[in-house]
Amino acid sequence: MVFADRVSKSFGSNEVLKGISLTVPRGEVMCLVGPSGSGKSTFLRCINHLERVDAGRLSVDGVLVGYEERGDKLYELKPREAARQRRDIGMVFQRFNLFSHMTALENIIEAPMRVNKLTKDDAVARGRELLARVGLDEKEDAYPAHLSGGQQQRVAIARALAMEPKLMLFDEPTSALDPELVGEVLDVMKGLAKSGMTMIVVTHEMGFAREVADQLVFMDGGVVVEAGNPDEVLGNPQHQRTKAFLSKVL
Ligand code: ATP
Ligand code: MG
Repeated sequence: MVFADRVSKSFGSNEVLKGISLTVPRGEVMCLVGPSGSGKSTFLRCINHLERVDAGRLSVDGVLVGYEERGDKLYELKPREAARQRRDIGMVFQRFNLFSHMTALENIIEAPMRVNKLTKDDAVARGRELLARVGLDEKEDAYPAHLSGGQQQRVAIARALAMEPKLMLFDEPTSALDPELVGEVLDVMKGLAKSGMTMIVVTHEMGFAREVADQLVFMDGGVVVEAGNPDEVLGNPQHQRTKAFLSKVL
């Protein structure tokens, strides 16, 4: 589903991704861990072309991200086409980014109505199903300010799912939450993984990684230092940098 081949990205003279190669098969979950500044968020942003890669190839579901290939040349997609491509990819951030002037349900139905041209009735019916799926069917009329952080994050997940993405990207979805609210969000993500969603999750929740991830990737300084089965990487890290990092988060 996601295929990265020697992806590089610099900001000015700062080379943030130095040839990242990895594969996430359809229906699998990859957890991405690494110290602050190692390039995790930048890599996620490249996958939905919020950042442009400088070199290497990145494809989602067999389609090159952000570029069109004609002959042996690559042409960058126009913003409209890039936006269309991005619709297949759901993204959930550390901060919940809900529209504060809209209720939970309105947050969820906005894009399906505006972008996918669903009728309001259809969008509402689907929105209610999604709210039930994240355990918030009682809260459809609540505004974000009246929801806990964990509830807001669950609405954010439902909102992303409303666009029926092929792939979900999570960038530290629980790190802004009070500890007692982390579990309810991870539970929703576990359910999503079980349902067969392809997911890339940047997280420091190693318990979640061990339970849910098919692959755990440790990134440092813009390179993949180590990748593999989470039990192996966590239980028997091969590299000094991995050991040092894990000793801080485990
Ligand atoms: P954290 O765990 O703190 O979220 P991260 O692994 O997600 O870190 P990134 O946010 O990808 O790291 O940042 C990697 C590097 O890229 C950092 O040095 C950062 O300053 C730089 N960087 C990220 N975005 C930009 C940008 N838009 N312009 C310039 N530099 C950037
Ligand atoms: Mg980050």
